[in-house]
Amino acid sequence: ITNNVGFIGLGNMGSHMANHLAKQGRKLKVFDVVADAAKSVPGAIVCKTPQEAATDVSVVFTMLPDGNVVKDTVLRNEGIAKGIKKDALMIDCSTIEPTTAKELHTIAKDNGYRFIDCPVSGGVTGAAAGTLTYMIGGDIKDVDTARQYLLQAGKNIFHCGGPGAGQVAKLCNNLILGVTMAGTAESMNMGLKYGLDPKVLTDIINVSTGRSWSSETYNPHPGILPNVPSSKNYDGGFMVKLIAKDLGLAEGAALAANAPVPMTAAVHQLYRAMMNHGLGDKDFSVIYQFLQGKKF
Ligand code: NAD
Repeated sequence: ITNNVGFIGLGNMGSHMANHLAKQGRKLKVFDVVADAAKSVPGAIVCKTPQEAATDVSVVFTMLPDGNVVKDTVLRNEGIAKGIKKDALMIDCSTIEPTTAKELHTIAKDNGYRFIDCPVSGGVTGAAAGTLTYMIGGDIKDVDTARQYLLQAGKNIFHCGGPGAGQVAKLCNNLILGVTMAGTAESMNMGLKYGLDPKVLTDIINVSTGRSWSSETYNPHPGILPNVPSSKNYDGGFMVKLIAKDLGLAEGAALAANAPVPMTAAVHQLYRAMMNHGLGDKDFSVIYQFLQGKKF
């Protein structure tokens, strides 16, 4: 029975993660509100409810858009809490507010199952390659239980502390991501206006002090890197509405801790404005074309 895994939320990230688990011998029970998404894992049992996907499994993964959806997926009629067996482990890999993660820890305790908050970093390229980084909040013995599953879809595991600590670490990372992508985009746009070759400019940045994941691994100029969203019409990847969500969560968490986050606040509003220009479902590197003044 330790081989049985529930997986709920098979979008841009979850579908890759679930496929890695299936390819390495786990028997998967999957659920997604979008029927086609649920069919993305060959050999998996497609379930009609989260309850069904959580029944008779040792571990249930969730990879869902936000905290409200995760909580609803746990508590709703035919939700996870109704199906999960005693002492089974729920691993939430979604990026959600640390306060909601803490609530989910309490709900798990009250219902006799185990829970870790376990957001990931690495993007869709990392998910596809199986090299994700996990940031975990919760009990060390639950981290140890999770390890063998997590390593099948990722590479680095960090136990950050108690309930919610994984989410705090994730928000600390993602606020840098939002800022560096905006910075890379505005820098390259300025260079192009002066006639610089975007490939040469990228090569310079990537061996200089302006280098970041956004310039090196996820460059926003189409055609510099073959397999990133900017080279695929900014489709797939990490949607504008999701980075905007994360930056909002980071601002909220920072406010509660009395930590000033002026850069986060500025780029948060930029991505929000992009959503109002119809770019919510595009990859966040589309900020480059937004700054170029492209009409969408
Ligand atoms: P996505 O929107 O592509 O996937 C979410 C999936 O959940 C979709 O298939 C959707 O149909 C499904 N879903 C929505 N509501 C549901 C419900 N009530 N019940 C069951 N399924 C439901 O998003 P994603 O890019 O895969 O991101 C998922 C999470 O991971 C988010 O919290 C995001 O912030 C985080 N994340 C994303 C990336 C990235 O690069 N895309 C990287 C790290 C973390």
